[in-house]
Order: sequence, then structure tokens, then C-alpha cells
Amino acid sequence: MICPRCENVGLLISYKNSVEIDYCPECGGIWLDQGELRKIVEQSIEQFSSYKSDVNTVQTSTTNVSEKMSNFLNEFFKV
Ligand SMILES: [Zn+2]
Repeated sequence: MICPRCENVGLLISYKNSVEIDYCPECGGIWLDQGELRKIVEQSIEQFSSYKSDVNTVQTSTTNVSEKMSNFLNEFFKV
């Protein structure tokens, strides 16, 4: 598939938790097939919930939570 924005750049494919993600190495755009965004959002909510339960049981400081969330986002968008 060709990037709709760059027009002459082919999209690369990355897999995240069995969800196929097409992304453009040129502009950084990401394209998802129907239903894939929903899967990703559901997985994100599950992961975020587990972070929240960490906070409740271990009483992790706010700094650590931000750090975890930041690591999660970095991991998530790493292609
Ligand atoms: Zn592009």
C-alpha cells in the first residue's frame, strides 16, 4: 500500500499484539484496517488498568506511574 499523503512512498507493516499496523517511514503516518483501532484501544485499556491496580496495591508514586505510561506509549508506537 502506498502512503496517501506522500503518494510515492510504500507503507511498512508492523505487528503489535497481533494487530497489523501500516506506517509510513517518510511522514510517520499510521493506517489501520477496520476494527484494528478498536483492538488496540481495548488492549491499551487493559494495560492501563493493570498499571492502575499497581498504584492501588503498591501505592506507587505519581512519578513512577507517569514513567510507566510513558514507557508503555514508547513501546506501543515503536515500529
Ligand atoms: Zn507518508
